[in-house]
Amino acid sequence: MYCTMKPLLAQAMADGQGVPAFNIHALEVVPVMAKAADAVKCPVILQVSVSTAKYIGYSLLASIVKKVSEDMTVDIALHLDHATSLEDIQEALNGGFSSVMYDGSKLTFEENVSNTLKAVEMARAAEASIEAELGIVGRGKIIETYPYTEPADAAEFVRRTGVDALAVGIGTHHGMYQAKTNIRLDILKEIHEAVDIPLVLHGGTGVRDEDVRECVRLGMHKLNFGTELNVSWVRKAKDVFAKAEPDDTMRNLMIECNRAMTETIQKKIQLVRF
Ligand SMILES: [Zn+2]
Repeated sequence: MYCTMKPLLAQAMADGQGVPAFNIHALEVVPVMAKAADAVKCPVILQVSVSTAKYIGYSLLASIVKKVSEDMTVDIALHLDHATSLEDIQEALNGGFSSVMYDGSKLTFEENVSNTLKAVEMARAAEASIEAELGIVGRGKIIETYPYTEPADAAEFVRRTGVDALAVGIGTHHGMYQAKTNIRLDILKEIHEAVDIPLVLHGGTGVRDEDVRECVRLGMHKLNFGTELNVSWVRKAKDVFAKAEPDDTMRNLMIECNRAMTETIQKKIQLVRF
């Protein structure tokens, strides 16, 4: 069933499990991701960046995810990842997304609270769930002076905004797939003790397997994996397309790439459901 991420995260929190969130980069992979999760009976959050949402079209994507969800036995949410503009959030909600993230992590604390409150109001009006971010998740390379989230700030932020889930900075980075990050589980533990809503792991690809499980134990119930899925698809595509003839059917070429992505998805699911 198509739903918001709220019931998925509430159930995961009660069971001490994680819900994986996978990044869609093209329409082709929507049924692939849904079927991969359904085959192992795992509820799933499918998410997109603003750029991908604009590339596909908000309402086209939402209608396809809704349609695909009807055929699955597990619950599926469609989430807009890292929106920094309220206009993009409204566009996603109008298009039928069941969940959005407002990322005001680069703003001052007060500006982040004030914009997040506006996003919360918009999400509530559309009966969608909402994630926000406090503290920065790095991108690409490891940063020296990492802006870790202060546990007391996280508690105040959650109390003042009423968001459903919070992304926090504990040393993870987006886009990493070769090196692994040294994350601060001690800081996560303090945040978990200060905050009673599900926390979100961003940059999951760059986190060691054993650390991912520890993150789930320490309150991270939404775990984002994007880069590794993309890498598995593209790596297979380089090989398959290099050997292909121009008149080979695209379908057969893509089936192989989709299969490689399915394997990665199921490995990530095993990691967060234990
Ligand atoms: Zn992220």
